[in-house]
Amino acid sequence: MIKFLDLEKVTASHGDEIREAVSRVVNSGWYLQGKENEKFEKDYADYIGTSYAVGCANGLDALIWILRAYVEMGVMKPGDEVIVPANTYIATILAITENGLVPVLVEPDIATYQIDPARIEAAITPRTRAIMIVHLYGQCAYTDEIGCICKEHGLKLIEDNAQAHGCLFNGRRTGSLGDAAGHSFYPGKNLGALGDGGAVTTDDEELARTVRALANYGSTRKYVFKYVGRNSRLDEIQAAVLGVKLRHLDADNARRKQIARMYVDGITNPAIILPQIPDADAHVFHIFPIRTERRDELQKYLADNGVQTIIHYPIPPHRQECYPQLHHLSLPVSEQIHAQELSLPISPVMPDAEVAAVIRLINQWK
Ligand SMILES: *Cc1c(COP(=O)(O)O)cnc(C)c1O
Repeated sequence: MIKFLDLEKVTASHGDEIREAVSRVVNSGWYLQGKENEKFEKDYADYIGTSYAVGCANGLDALIWILRAYVEMGVMKPGDEVIVPANTYIATILAITENGLVPVLVEPDIATYQIDPARIEAAITPRTRAIMIVHLYGQCAYTDEIGCICKEHGLKLIEDNAQAHGCLFNGRRTGSLGDAAGHSFYPGKNLGALGDGGAVTTDDEELARTVRALANYGSTRKYVFKYVGRNSRLDEIQAAVLGVKLRHLDADNARRKQIARMYVDGITNPAIILPQIPDADAHVFHIFPIRTERRDELQKYLADNGVQTIIHYPIPPHRQECYPQLHHLSLPVSEQIHAQELSLPISPVMPDAEVAAVIRLINQWK
């Protein structure tokens, strides 16, 4: 069977270093808010190219804390609007509504699957405070046009970088392109922990300080509580594991790009729409998304032939039961993507022979 993602093999590929890192923490007797967090936060900020990285419990919390910090800082207040791509993973939207803010869904570009810059201005109202772009599938969603719109309208630019660790825009990392970025270290992400983890990156000292306090009971000093916070910390074992995986991230992403190149060059079946890659640096292929009108049939055919695939995502956020206030929206581009998208297996440990087998099967599909 060709797995969608063989996590056991991914971990094993850095097994000795990971075991050494975990043992170091186990033996240290210090499991939270210690040297490992300090070192990982410094290394990750250096890698992304921001002044600050603040670890937290998961990617959803990272996004929640950015918006909550802006509320605490008086930059936005409940009822204000945040523009967000309509085809994102639900967590992006959850972070907005969790803070009493209003998500304003903007359609993606069908060619790139990223928020369509040309449709953003029409969605701006006097209540808009931020644009939250999502580097979906591992592809950079930022464009100079989006940067200009934010400046012109005085909006915060927030990046959801949960799927795009290591992605570049003109030599700068995603996660450093806006005012703040949320990162997820969910095990299946390009930079994945052995459990949950997340981080916020920013150059804004006040934002970094506020996020750090919010994720630690709202505490600015031991037993002094400035905010109604929560316990949302990154633990030392995960920070140590992430330190190891960060050292291998560029090499792991390079292998993903190689596999994506093999798929793009190898898949010739005219029923398949392949992802467009305008700039090789601007995509780290967290996901390799293809589209076809007979998506469910193709998924079953591949499964019958031993290939695991996943749909990202089967139901768009505005059709989810949890958001009745969004059900009235008509978002045909998003709906088309959700009806046609299929994600092929891709990971740093996927062998050439498996890629070739998937290509062969898809080309034989009628
Ligand atoms: C994974 C993901 C998140 C949430 O990250 P968790 O660590 O799972 O909480 C947020 N946004 C996007 C786009 C994601 O893919």
